[in-house]
Amino acid sequence: MSVTGLPPYDEANIFARILRGEIPCKRVAEDDHALAFHDIHPQAPTHILVIPKGSWVSAADFHAGASAEAIAGFWRMVAAVAKAQGLEAGGYRILSNMGADGGQEVPHFHVHIFGGRRLGRMVP
Ligand code: IMP
Repeated sequence: MSVTGLPPYDEANIFARILRGEIPCKRVAEDDHALAFHDIHPQAPTHILVIPKGSWVSAADFHAGASAEAIAGFWRMVAAVAKAQGLEAGGYRILSNMGADGGQEVPHFHVHIFGGRRLGRMVP
């Protein structure tokens, strides 16, 4: 679904290319709804990206347009990856940058999972 203010989905973005298997990734988990892989420039001992399958720019169009099953599947994978990485006991952070002001570099909706050390307080 197109959402006002979002650019059209760019099929050439790097995560679309990873989903199509055109470029490699360090895969952590994959199912029908989502793919999880290690960030190429980790900012914490554990830094994993989870992306939904499908052409979604941002949280806005994903949550407005994806099926309830796809949305639930995506968030289930986020939680399952954090658990499988052993992050539940100590805690972890999930974060999604959206748009230019949010610092989003790759225009395919994604969530970062950070963990493995005591994270600093979030500041803008
Ligand atoms: P954001 O769009 O600012 O939320 O961040 C995009 C993230 O994707 C950054 O943390 C990058 O390090 C990461 N990234 C960019 N290209 C690749 C790649 O090819 N593989 C894995 N991570 C990537």
